[in-house]
Amino acid sequence: MKKALITGITGQDGSYLAELLLTKGYEVYGLVRMSSDDNMQRLKDIISNKNLHILYGDMTDESSIYNAIKTSLPDEIYNLAAQSHVGLSKNFTEYTTNINAMGLLRIINVVTFLGIDKKVKIYQATTSEIFGNAKTDLLNEETELNPSNAYACAKCYAYLLAKCYRKQGMFIVNGIAFPHESRKRSDKFVTRKITKAAVKIKLGKQDKLSLGNISVRRDWGHAGDYVKAMWLAMQHENADDYIIATGITTSLKELCIKAFNMLNIELEFKGEGLEEKAYDKKTGKLVLDIDKNFHRPNEHKNPTGDISKIKRILGWEPKMTIDDIVKEMIEEDLKLEN
Ligand code: NAP
Repeated sequence: MKKALITGITGQDGSYLAELLLTKGYEVYGLVRMSSDDNMQRLKDIISNKNLHILYGDMTDESSIYNAIKTSLPDEIYNLAAQSHVGLSKNFTEYTTNINAMGLLRIINVVTFLGIDKKVKIYQATTSEIFGNAKTDLLNEETELNPSNAYACAKCYAYLLAKCYRKQGMFIVNGIAFPHESRKRSDKFVTRKITKAAVKIKLGKQDKLSLGNISVRRDWGHAGDYVKAMWLAMQHENADDYIIATGITTSLKELCIKAFNMLNIELEFKGEGLEEKAYDKKTGKLVLDIDKNFHRPNEHKNPTGDISKIKRILGWEPKMTIDDIVKEMIEEDLKLEN
């Protein structure tokens, strides 16, 4: 039976990955950090599975990582733990760096110390944010690094560390993922903020939704698809860097239209820039406006993932479309609100 250790198992991707690995017959160990509140909600469907083991630890504490790796002696380590919020990373630059950059270094040090560095396979959750405002929209594994925030800088460090230790014979994959969503996405992220607000507005529990720049386009995929890519990359005989994306972008404005449409609210847009507003066409009620406080400095324009390498080498392709994703999130929010 293969054994995997997942850091960040309580997060969106960690919980999907744990489900996937359990169905594949793995023994799964999850590193969970101390929380005064319940941070295991996303694991509720699998928590009683006899092949799932929770180990308490923190990416900022090397002794707890040592304990987790020594206890589990994994064949595969998926390093998904992160302070994952790009916007908030400016409020905690040192904390973000400690987890997102140093976390992988601590894992590498521990497996080296335990003498399993040439046996264990490691997956590093890298992000398209490492490319920042790139010169072109279509980004691939060779695109120049150009990070523009603390989150991306920390992820760049881990990305380079992975490449460096790979050269020394370690198996470390960089999965360079574009944004991915699901019914398990936190509402701190804009997609979930939109679907939640649309449902609440529909039910009369919220007046309107305020957003930043709604013309930005993003390449959004589904977390369930992306964890399959992570697993496939770890099964290949060679470790490599892979873009994980859909290759299709949608603007925030289009995403709002889709979300409200699924609730039978047709949006009518008026005005431009900061003055742009959307109204419920049937009732004339204001449902969306622009708040300049939500505008991100250095907002990337239209980053799109070139997935030709992962298709060619791993045979991976995303299955869920943006419509499927928005539908899943709206259905989940309706269930939660009701
Ligand atoms: P997420 O939902 O925010 O999950 C992050 C996980 O990291 C949670 O389990 C969290 O624990 C854990 N964590 C945070 N700080 C920790 C610490 N100090 N010690 C141990 N665990 C800690 O993120 P996600 O969406 O699943 O993303 C997974 C990974 O992919 C992250 O590394 C993220 O940066 C990267 N990524 C994500 C996307 C995306 O669109 N989702 C795109 C590109 C890359 P708690 O539950 O206790 O908070």
